[in-house]
Amino acid sequence: MNELSRTSQTTPRRVTILGSTGSIGTQALDVVRAHPDRFELVGLSASNNAKMLEKQAHEFSPKYVALENGDADFLRNCDAETLVGPGSASELAKAPTDTVLNGVVGFAGLAATVSALEAENRVALANKESIVAGGEWVMSLAEGNPTIPVDSEHSAIFQCIEGRTESEISGVLLTASGGPFFETEKAKLADAGVEDALAHPTWSMGVKNTLDSATMMNKGLEVIEAHHLFGIPFDKIKVVVHRQSVVHGGVMFEDGATILHASTPSMKLPISYGMLYPERVDVSVGATPFDGVSWTFDEPRNDVFRCLPLAYEAGRLGGAYPVVLNAANEVAIEAFLEGGIKFLAVADLIETTLEAAPEFGAMESMESISEADSWARNEAKRKVKEVR
Ligand code: MG
Repeated sequence: MNELSRTSQTTPRRVTILGSTGSIGTQALDVVRAHPDRFELVGLSASNNAKMLEKQAHEFSPKYVALENGDADFLRNCDAETLVGPGSASELAKAPTDTVLNGVVGFAGLAATVSALEAENRVALANKESIVAGGEWVMSLAEGNPTIPVDSEHSAIFQCIEGRTESEISGVLLTASGGPFFETEKAKLADAGVEDALAHPTWSMGVKNTLDSATMMNKGLEVIEAHHLFGIPFDKIKVVVHRQSVVHGGVMFEDGATILHASTPSMKLPISYGMLYPERVDVSVGATPFDGVSWTFDEPRNDVFRCLPLAYEAGRLGGAYPVVLNAANEVAIEAFLEGGIKFLAVADLIETTLEAAPEFGAMESMESISEADSWARNEAKRKVKEVR
């Protein structure tokens, strides 16, 4: 039989879910709940929501639970082996498993990705910051053990690119929804509030991703992620705004053909594909609609949403610049959420932090990456205080 026979495989996949109480984690558990015979849960980890983690442990009976912060008392009656304290997600990521789904938010996810790869566990990666900050070093750890992207655009590209050789590929396409502000005049953005920025038109995601979507930094981080995951030069990564969020990404080939990936927008698709690769299961998303629908593609507004061009620039410069970009962005988003800076100041803060960055050595260890990350966080926080 050919590759189709894979779908008849019945051995359950051993899966560890990091960030199980977040947006990615809870949707992953929805997939597990719908297909209990397909999964064996090795572990669940949460940042600080101990109460919800305890509930999940009760329902899914994983072998381990890990809690980074928060009240470990909630886990007292868990049957699972319990890991508690900072670094516990990384510890859990080492436990033998078929796939570690990394749904941790932000830079905090990098250590767990590294730890899983060093233990030769396959990573299904929803934490794009791991690749943005870890870059070539993380990709070298993943050699011979391909990372399965769970970011919807990269999952799309991954599915379109499989089996192709480098010389056939002339570029990759990332679509952006444009977020809630794509059609808003720049003058009106000056007073955009947190609630406006969180009103995403098409995707249901966590707070960090949704705000990054509003600034277009989400796409910026994804450009850097695509560069490393697929080994594509920055000038061959094209971003288009596609308001319907049905086409997620694609690959352009030497002969002029483009293969696009389309589906109703739901993270359950890339999550289930990442956990079960190369198999597919029904995740109740339904078929892609075609009757009477239109797909539109527009240029990004780089003059207004400057995070995207800043990310291209940081990506091209390489070294510590993507680490600084990511750290400054996390500080800026936090400051915007707390009312410390205005929406349009997010890009300014990132730009001035990048400009102030000193020379850092090669980003080839957790220590060197953490050093650049800490410098950028302190620098960006200092600048936030200046604005206040
Ligand atoms: Mg995405």
